[in-house]
Amino acid sequence: MSLFQQSKRIVVKAGSNTLTHATGKLNIRKIEILAKVLSDLKNQGKEIVLVSSGAISAGAAKLGLDRAGMSVVEKQALAAIGQSELMNVYSRFFSDYGVQVAQLLLTKDIFTNPERKKHAENTFRALIEMGALPIINENDAVSDDEVTQFGGNDILSAYVAQFCKADLLINMTDVEGLYTKDPRKYADAELISRVEDINQVKSMAGGAGTEHGTGGMTAKITAAEMCVKAGIPMFILSGADPNILYDLADGKQIGTYFPAK
Ligand code: GLU
Repeated sequence: MSLFQQSKRIVVKAGSNTLTHATGKLNIRKIEILAKVLSDLKNQGKEIVLVSSGAISAGAAKLGLDRAGMSVVEKQALAAIGQSELMNVYSRFFSDYGVQVAQLLLTKDIFTNPERKKHAENTFRALIEMGALPIINENDAVSDDEVTQFGGNDILSAYVAQFCKADLLINMTDVEGLYTKDPRKYADAELISRVEDINQVKSMAGGAGTEHGTGGMTAKITAAEMCVKAGIPMFILSGADPNILYDLADGKQIGTYFPAK
């Protein structure tokens, strides 16, 4: 049985680059496939939690603006506009497959303040008991004077995986996994299929992400480090076709795997 098949509670993180086109507008087709695949996995008995970016991009696209030139406050306003747009799209696609979604917007104090954490845990537990599929994002609109308190949704997803005691975190991104060099610049870059020692790969991570997200490999490696220390295995794999999750279930060797300690 593959690790995926053995895992009951799975956190899937989808980044802005996975969910939007190069125009910055939502990639409706891909979001629809993601909703279908995650609904099907839920029907198989998995407890799926989705950490979704895309709020700022969706807000910018809705107003016909380019997020790159926006101030922090403007990005926060775009997040407020885009988050509801994003949830509207998710809600419509997931309801086609009979899945009820729920929005959870988090800030860092929820993980550091025991009282707030307890309330969030209770709500999360109730949602899972009700059979809902939680869709989590940072509450960018009120979060911080740099938009994100976490350093982006890669790190948030590692917090979420621990918070909800996940068996597995899957980070879906715009590359196949972690490479020995930046594959966009070097043709001889090789995909690393398994990472036993995170310190050895830290220098390979390269810079920040592309214009529609804040991720980049450095944040993903930090997230992996947090997860494996907490006993949660993690995969980085391509979000180009969400059906890739079936390949993972079939035990195919794809992406980069970080086994738990
Ligand atoms: N929370 C941000 C959004 O929804 C994205 C942060 C990230 O991409 O890491 O737009």
